[in-house]
Amino acid sequence: MLLTIAQALSWAREQLSSHNVSDDGLHDCAAIDSKILLAASLQREVIYLHTWPEKRLDKLQTEIFKHYMSQRILGHPVAYIIGFRDFWTLRLNVSAATLIPRPETELIVEISLSLDLAKCAKVLDLGTGSGAIALALASEKPNWLITGLDKIAEAVILAKDNATIHKLERVNFIQSDWFSAVEHQQFNLIVTNPPYIEDNNRYLLQGDVRFEPSSALTSGSDGLDDIRLIVSQSKHYLAADGWLVIEHGYQQSDPIRDILTAHGFIQIRNEYDLNGFPRVSLGKVEK
Ligand code: GLN
Repeated sequence: MLLTIAQALSWAREQLSSHNVSDDGLHDCAAIDSKILLAASLQREVIYLHTWPEKRLDKLQTEIFKHYMSQRILGHPVAYIIGFRDFWTLRLNVSAATLIPRPETELIVEISLSLDLAKCAKVLDLGTGSGAIALALASEKPNWLITGLDKIAEAVILAKDNATIHKLERVNFIQSDWFSAVEHQQFNLIVTNPPYIEDNNRYLLQGDVRFEPSSALTSGSDGLDDIRLIVSQSKHYLAADGWLVIEHGYQQSDPIRDILTAHGFIQIRNEYDLNGFPRVSLGKVEK
C-alpha cells in the first residue's frame, strides 16, 4: 500500500528522530528534513505537502524517498542528498566538493550591499565554493564586476553551472589558491567565507560537517591560518577605500581585529549574526 504525503512525513519524522541524525538541540530538524526530502522526491516545493496531505506517492516517488531517507539515516547532509540548497534568493546546486551554503553567510551579502561602493564596483569572492556569495551579489548588483575563486577545480565548475542556471554568467569564476592566479588589480570589495575552524575541534566529529571537505572548514591549530594569509595579501589587491569583509567563528573577532590592525586596516568593525554573535569582521586598508 502506497503512503499518503501525511503518512510518509510522519514515518520519516519518526525515523529521523529515532536515529538521532537530524537534531541540533534547537529546532525540530527531523520534521524540517523530512519535508525537504519528501518535497524533493516529488520534485515539488514544501508548500505542496501542506496543500495535498492526502495525496498518495506513486511507486517511483516512494523509491526515491526511501533512498533519500536511507542516506539521511546514514548521516549524509540533506543538501548533498537532494543536490541543492537555497541561499539568498537563489537555489544553488551543491556537491561534496564544496561547503553547503549556510544561512549565516547571508550576513556577508547584506553587509556588502550596504557598503557605499561605486556603481561598477570590482568585487572578489575568495573561496567561492558553490558560488553562493558571488552569485547572490551579482543577482542584486547587475553592474558590479564580480570574480569568484576557489582552489578546488570541481568547485569552480559547480559555481559556473550555478551562474548559468541563474543567468549570471557575467560573474567570472577562476581556479586559484587564494591570490595565486589573480592578475594584479585593485578591488573595491573583497569578501570571504574562508575555512576558520581549529584543526582538532570536536565540532568536526559530529553531524553534517563530517561530510563536508576539510579544505573548506579547517585552518590550522587556531583556525586562523587562512585568514592571516588573506588579510596580509588582500591589502595589495584593495583599491583606496576598498573593504575586506571576512566571515569567522563567533570567538575569533578579537584576534582578527589584531591581524587587521597589524596589516594597516582601519575602520574595523564587527557585524553580528541572528544569535547576537560577532560573525563578520570588516575593515578598509589605509592607502
Ligand atoms: N560556519 C561553518 C560551520 O560552522 C564553518 C564554515 C567555514 O569554516 N567557513 O560549520
